[in-house]
Amino acid sequence: MSRMNSDRRPIAYEFCKKRDGEKCVVCKRYPVKKVQDKSREVTRLYVDHKDNNNNNNPEDGSNWQLLCPSHNAKKNPRGKQRHSKFSSHLRLKESLTHTSASTHERAETIARSKWQTTAQLDVSAKADPLVRAYVNSLLSHVDRIEKSELACAAAEHCMLKGVQLSEQTAARYIRKYCNNINGFLESIMVEDTVYIRKRRDLSQ
Ligand SMILES: [Zn+2]
Repeated sequence: MSRMNSDRRPIAYEFCKKRDGEKCVVCKRYPVKKVQDKSREVTRLYVDHKDNNNNNNPEDGSNWQLLCPSHNAKKNPRGKQRHSKFSSHLRLKESLTHTSASTHERAETIARSKWQTTAQLDVSAKADPLVRAYVNSLLSHVDRIEKSELACAAAEHCMLKGVQLSEQTAARYIRKYCNNINGFLESIMVEDTVYIRKRRDLSQ
């Protein structure tokens, strides 16, 4: 319908109206000028070319039909963009019936979540060695650092290096480095405060 010339459109419209009635050939919705019930809102109907060829306009009108905004948009995606101001009901109906679009959206969502998981692994692959090196370097200058302080500083260090890392995750890495078996750090309690220092039995 898009490129139908403006002279022919009213003729085609009247033709379809006489032949099929002034309603969408798919859902039988009709144009409502005054909107009383929003669910029935259809501001106009569109003259559609059945074969999607806008230049195919036989005199007998056999290539024309009337469609509501929703069904016109479904048949012609470009039309969907042009006439995006549908009532919410029509949008909802469209989203429910537009299975190919929603399947596509679902696939996109899955792809996005896969990407996020990959991104998280990526961050961990970068952040873990960053935190390890930073803590190692810090603790070669000072004997011990308060545990919460260390997590905060490590998170900040990662941020400066362009790696997003929460303080909680930094604290989790530090706990891991305090592992009894192969950790290079240990935690000690001094006057009710937890400190982290290099593991003594390793360095001796
Ligand atoms: Zn319709």
